[in-house]
Amino acid sequence: MKPYQIKPDSKVDLSKHDPGDRREFEGSKEESLLELKKLTERLGELQELLYAENKQRVLVVLQAMDTGGKDGTIRRVFVDANPKGVRVASFKVPTPEELAHDYLWRVHKVVPGNGELVIFNRSHYEDVLVVRVHNLVPKQVWSKRYEQINQFERLLAENGTTILKFFLHIDLDEQKERLQARLDDPAKHWKFRLGDLDERKLWPDYIKAYEDAFEKTSTKYAPWYVIPANRKWYRDLVISRILVETLEALNMEYPKSEENLDGVVID
Ligand code: ADP
Repeated sequence: MKPYQIKPDSKVDLSKHDPGDRREFEGSKEESLLELKKLTERLGELQELLYAENKQRVLVVLQAMDTGGKDGTIRRVFVDANPKGVRVASFKVPTPEELAHDYLWRVHKVVPGNGELVIFNRSHYEDVLVVRVHNLVPKQVWSKRYEQINQFERLLAENGTTILKFFLHIDLDEQKERLQARLDDPAKHWKFRLGDLDERKLWPDYIKAYEDAFEKTSTKYAPWYVIPANRKWYRDLVISRILVETLEALNMEYPKSEENLDGVVID
């Protein structure tokens, strides 16, 4: 899955990353769903092992443009995970209390503990994305954040957290279709905000902010992956595969019983 990983210190031009790419799976959509089932079940086993072993921590960061598919990804990739060891943390417009602290305060409070897998639905990256695009703080403040974020993530990594960061990459046409679908279906109106249309006009600014973030914060210990996400099934498949490969490489083991179970007979 290396083709989608951003190499540390490399230049990023998102126009060279095709949101409709599907080079990692040759089969049909139907075949992909069978493959996805296998992967999500394996991910479920690995997550149980993570929980049972209770030693390591996993953090999955999801970022995307509006309608990029963060919620759908969480629902479908983690369908076989055990909610006991999995948590989703969503980051909204900061509350007055959050704004009264440094921007990493609300983030650090919800990182995974031992045995936990935590999914960030949006993240501290909003503080170099929406905050930068809307000039919510001066450039001299947000420009220091890339290094701060790297140091924060290094701290987590050096303390036993495996970090994966996924950008769900869709294009403007795909966003238009998804927004239209929300407008056409009354059951989806709650997801539609007129403000989304204003944000859509700022697309090039967001792309620039994302490219900068990838260039400055894709590290060995917390890599970014730019996932082609126009096709939902492909997105889910690729992310599941990266997660399975990464968790398998952790070489986790089920803990042994502290008692001697040899010869135990259940009447
Ligand atoms: P989502 O779009 O993730 O499903 P919402 O519709 O509630 O959830 O949107 C959350 C909003 O909070 C987004 O517009 C996002 O840009 C904003 N947000 C998140 N973090 C920050 C931040 N640090 N500063 C300003 N706005 C933020």
